[in-house]
Amino acid sequence: MANNIMATYSPLPVTFAKGEGAYLWDTEDRQYLDAIAGIAVCSIGHAQPELAEAIYDQAKQLLHTSNLYHIGLQQELANQLCALATMDEVFFSNSGTEANEAAIKLARRYAHQKGIKNPKIIVAKGSFHGRTLAALSATGNQAIQKGFEPLVEGFVHVDYNDIDAIKQQLDNEKSIVAIMLEPVQGEGGVNIPEADYLQQVRALCDQHECLMILDEIQTGLCRTGEWFAFQHSNIVPDVMTLAKALGNGVPIGACLTTGRGAGVLTAGTHGSTFGGNPLACRAALTVIDVMKKSDLKNQANIIGDLITNGFRKNLVDIEEIVDIRNKGMMIGIELEENCPGLVKIALESQLLINVTAGKVIRLLPPLILSTEQAETIVQQLSELIKSFIKK
Ligand SMILES: *Cc1c(COP(=O)(O)O)cnc(C)c1O
Repeated sequence: MANNIMATYSPLPVTFAKGEGAYLWDTEDRQYLDAIAGIAVCSIGHAQPELAEAIYDQAKQLLHTSNLYHIGLQQELANQLCALATMDEVFFSNSGTEANEAAIKLARRYAHQKGIKNPKIIVAKGSFHGRTLAALSATGNQAIQKGFEPLVEGFVHVDYNDIDAIKQQLDNEKSIVAIMLEPVQGEGGVNIPEADYLQQVRALCDQHECLMILDEIQTGLCRTGEWFAFQHSNIVPDVMTLAKALGNGVPIGACLTTGRGAGVLTAGTHGSTFGGNPLACRAALTVIDVMKKSDLKNQANIIGDLITNGFRKNLVDIEEIVDIRNKGMMIGIELEENCPGLVKIALESQLLINVTAGKVIRLLPPLILSTEQAETIVQQLSELIKSFIKK
């Protein structure tokens, strides 16, 4: 068959035909243990029966009406998310980058309402916020921006986890209206900031009447051992974006607001045809329900620490390991050398992993992972890392 897919991806040589829980099967019926979950998407596992049932049931009733009309399920989902996050309003999108696009537009509106005509948003080096023009301009990675200039203006990049760098910008630049960060940088290499970083950012935002925008697209929805990663820090942002795990594979994103972020986007200022349609909202409601019932927030802590400690034990003598770190089930093993080749080696051993930022093995397993499956990942991957390093 001719390949008519635009060459924006470099897929590994495998096609999956079905899944169940933390397992996938390829078209030759070989079984794989999934330690990446579609990049933090399939948190409640593959082919989750309640979700499959809910999607089927909803498809039989109503898929889409548009935001020309009230959507009961959207209201219900917004209620649930606001209760979990202690926030007030939600705009629904179809992806992460679109959720960030809403947050960036919101920050610009907020600025214009304050009479600031040329607003700037502080963002971090090493960040990833998506691939639309505003989101890629916010992203702190030139490889993602190269060839797409002119970039969207109004972003100031500072070092991540450097509160003084933010202070300096705020002191020197009066037109800063927002600070947009990931609570843990995902694509950037599972970078976990100092314990008080977000609290200090919160304080600076209050002092300077800036919006605190957190991109929780990867960290949100139990991944780090709290519903949202900001809940480790005892603060609430003004704006938070979600996507990835929200639909467990059904495309949906969200931009939540509270405090000075609330009430900024009004009728006619933003929209989406598909955003928050009945199918996507029914799926997300089911995902949240399953996460609550199975206590996946606590599971993420327990299994995440189990995996991380397992690697620490197995790899203790290996000099080439720079660091092993985690926040719940967002796990990074940093090597001295680039190691993207490990992904294919693991695939051949029927284990799905990811390498990001060149040197960081990133694991984002489904949150429903059993203890036994967790131990399998640790044993199998430890051996692969050891033999990879020896070569
Ligand atoms: C994946 C991701 C995005 C982009 O989400 P898409 O759904 O791919 O547009 C944005 N921010 C973070 C932190 C992400 O991990």
